[in-house]
Parts: sequence; C-alpha cells; structure tokens
Amino acid sequence: MDDVPQTLDEFMDYVVTKSAAQYEFHQAVREVTNSVWPLLESDPIYLRAKIPERMVHAERIIIFRVPWVDDAGEVQVNRGFRVEMNSAIGPYKGGLRFHPSVNLGILKFLAFEQVFKNALTSLPMGGGKGGADFDPKGRSDNEVMRFCQAFMSELFRHIGPHTDVPAGDIGVGGREIGYMFGQYKKLANQFSGILTGKGTTWGGSLIRPESTGYGLVYFTEEMFRAQGDSINGKTVIVSGSGNVAQFAVENINRLGGTAVALSDSGGFIHDPDGIDAEKLAWVMDLKNIRRGRISEYAERFGVEYYPGQRPWGVEGADVALPCATQNEINVDNAKQLVANGIQIVAEGANMPTEPDAEKLLVDSGVLFGPGKAANAGGVSVSGLEMAQNAGFTSWTREEVDGKLLGIMTKIHTTCRETAEEFEVPNNYVVGANIAGFRKVATAMLDQGVV
Ligand code: NDP
Repeated sequence: MDDVPQTLDEFMDYVVTKSAAQYEFHQAVREVTNSVWPLLESDPIYLRAKIPERMVHAERIIIFRVPWVDDAGEVQVNRGFRVEMNSAIGPYKGGLRFHPSVNLGILKFLAFEQVFKNALTSLPMGGGKGGADFDPKGRSDNEVMRFCQAFMSELFRHIGPHTDVPAGDIGVGGREIGYMFGQYKKLANQFSGILTGKGTTWGGSLIRPESTGYGLVYFTEEMFRAQGDSINGKTVIVSGSGNVAQFAVENINRLGGTAVALSDSGGFIHDPDGIDAEKLAWVMDLKNIRRGRISEYAERFGVEYYPGQRPWGVEGADVALPCATQNEINVDNAKQLVANGIQIVAEGANMPTEPDAEKLLVDSGVLFGPGKAANAGGVSVSGLEMAQNAGFTSWTREEVDGKLLGIMTKIHTTCRETAEEFEVPNNYVVGANIAGFRKVATAMLDQGVV
C-alpha cells in the first residue's frame, strides 16, 4: 500500500501533478480534503479503497468545438465542456456557465464542489458542471440563440434524464436554457427533462429562478436562529446583481432585513436606505431585459457608485452575501469585514472566498456558511423539477417554496450536527465537507471499484 498518500500534503502533491495549472481545482480539493482528513485518518477504509483519488478524477470529461456564425456573418469558434464528475448517488447534475473566463480548471472545481453540495441536499443527484468560454454580454438574442444551438448540437449526445441533467449558472438563464432545450428536442426528437430551469409552461418548476437566492437567505436565517437571533432588522451587503443576488435581495426583504449593496464586474452601488421591492424590480429589468450596468442604479436613485471596487468595505452591515463569482473576497476584504463587525458571511456564489480569507473569518468568530451548503437551494429545486417532470405533475409556488425551506433547514442541521460530532461546533465548513464526503464515499464503497 506504499502508493496510498499518508498525509494531506502527499495527497495534494498528487492532485497538483495530475491537474497541472488548474488552480481553482486545487483550491477546491484542498478545502475539502483539509476538512475530511481527520475522518480519513480515523477510518482506513477510505484511503485503502482510494476514495479520495477516485473522487478527484472525473468519471468523464467531454471537450468540444462550438462553431457558429455571428450577425456580421463572421465565423466564431468557442470551446464547450461538460465535466461528469461523480454519479455515485444519482445522474450528473450541475449548471452550465457561459463566460470568457471558463476553462477546464474552473469547471473541474465547480463540478467537484457540486458533488458534495448535491449530496447535502439529500436528493439523488450526482455532480457535474459544464459551459463554454462564450460571452453572451453584448451579443444579440439571435447570436445567443445560434450559439446555444451549436453548443447543444454536440452536448445532446451526452445528456439524458437518467444520465446527466444540466442547469443554468453564470451567463445561462431562462433565455439560454430555452434555446438549448429547443435544439435538444429537435435533435433527439424527444420532449424530456434533460435541463432544469425550464420555462413554467414547458416543464419548469415554479421557484427555480428564485431558489438559489431564496435558499441562501433561508440558510442565513437558520444560522441566526441557531444563535437565538434572526435576519429581521439586519443590514446586508450583497455582491453581484444577477440571478442569485436578485432573489437573495427579494428574500432579505421578505424576512425583514435590508440589503444595501449590489455589484457587477464594473463596480458596486451603496444604497443606505435599502433596495426595496420597487428598486429591485428596476434592477431586474435593468439586468434581465435591458442588460445594462449596475452603475445606472446610482444615476437612477441618486446613490454612490464605486467603480472598480467590491462592496466589502461598506460599514454598518451585519451580514455579507457574496453572490457574484469565485475568489471575490480576499484576506484584506475579510479583515475589513471583521473590523466592521460582520456577524455572518454566507456564500451565494461558488467559492467566492479565498482560502486565507475564509480562515481569517472563521478564526475571528464570524459564522461562515460555505457555498456547497448555503447555495444548495438552486440545485435542490432543480431536483424537485426533475421529480415533477418524472411524475408528469407540477407543484404550486407554496409547495415548492415550503420544500425548499425544509431542505435548507435540513442542510443547516446536518452541517451543525456533523461539526459538533467532529468537535468543531459552529464550523459549517468542516460540517458540510465531512457530511457531503461521507455520503458520496459510502455510495462509492457500496458500488465497488467502478
Ligand atoms: P449571473 O450571470 O446571473 O450573475 C452573475 C453576477 O456576477 C453578475 O452581476 C456579474 O456581473 C457578476 N460577475 C460575474 N463574473 C464576475 C467577475 N469576474 N467579477 C465581478 N463580478 C462578476 O449568475 P448567477 O447569479 O447565476 O451566479 C452567481 C454565482 O452563484 C456563481 O458563482 C454561480 O456559480 C453561483 N451559483 C448559481 C446558482 C444558480 O442557480 N444560478 C446555483 C448555485 C451557485 P457582470 O454582469 O458585470 O458580468
């Protein structure tokens, strides 16, 4: 058994060697492995069966050319990907990201995170992630449609309701899901639930667009409740202004909190009076229909806009919800948050907090909700959409919202109880990683070496 890594460092050396230059992937693996190493040392079965090595290798990765023609008649070529990471507990499930920064390392980090996130939801979903280095920003609807059709012309061979069911992510919302679903249906000659986030008149679930943002705020509320407190009356910094950020703000408002910041890749706005329902409706129109910039909010409502900056220095806030992208809170931002008395940081985005920033927050006593737990609401309602499709039925808003709340509450309890079991109470990072890992590892052990 000489080749079984005996230490965390040996294991990470192996990961880095096998996936050179995939920095975000190394970061995600290190975070999970750090948490689960005490479990691996206490029970030799995992290392003996090489579960960690098996988990860091995707079951399958598909990389393909996506050629399409833009409005000027010019040929464009993008790279398409689907990382089918782990199917131990169900069909691969996870979003598609269209963003110029997309590469294999980023998608492997997202797929790896997704495996444990999906396990935490208690629904039967494996983990995957995909996308393309295509930027929908500045493209016409027709160009986006042609790109989505070209992308699905290859992807359709690899997905299916019992194999792999993608959803949206950055740059992939209802419009893109619609175009991709249409192309799948045409090529496969089959109307089936191969994507989630569909329109509600053609198989989509109510509350799916809201689910990640709503779920994040339900999770945050549970973190407060565990301390005998509530989000009611609290001031919240939100980053991003896309799908997750928008519905996080909506749920903050429903639960009596006040959201005072939003951002995009250009900068952030600070609205001390709060982003109420009317202002939020304006933001949704700006971002989802007119596809404008958050700086326009400042002009419209007469508040400050901070170009090129992130919102973590805003004073007087109790909660920070990063909802834009990976690595958007660095250690200096974390120091600012601690100095300003932040009580809770919960991740709406995937891995928005850099490792040393996360450590600083946790060590400083800030309650920290990691993305794989706190933003699991989106994939949970995707799972509910699959269940509705399989049963040829659709549930009401109230039913889906109630189930979402139940799932987020259960994820929160699982994280807390697991953290207590491993004698690190209030450490949601360790709780989420060990609980997710244990579930997937047990299924892999049961199913043999495959
Ligand atoms: P959207 O595309 O709807 O919104 C993304 C937002 O983040 C936009 O405001 C965008 O600004 C901003 N952003 C993107 N990249 C950068 C960057 N490099 N620097 C600064 N800002 C940036 O995506 P979602 O809201 O769906 O996703 C946000 C995060 O939540 C991602 O990490 C995603 O993986 C995660 N997530 C999403 C789920 C979902 O159901 N949608 C589920 C679970 C997690 P701009 O418009 O200027 O690019």
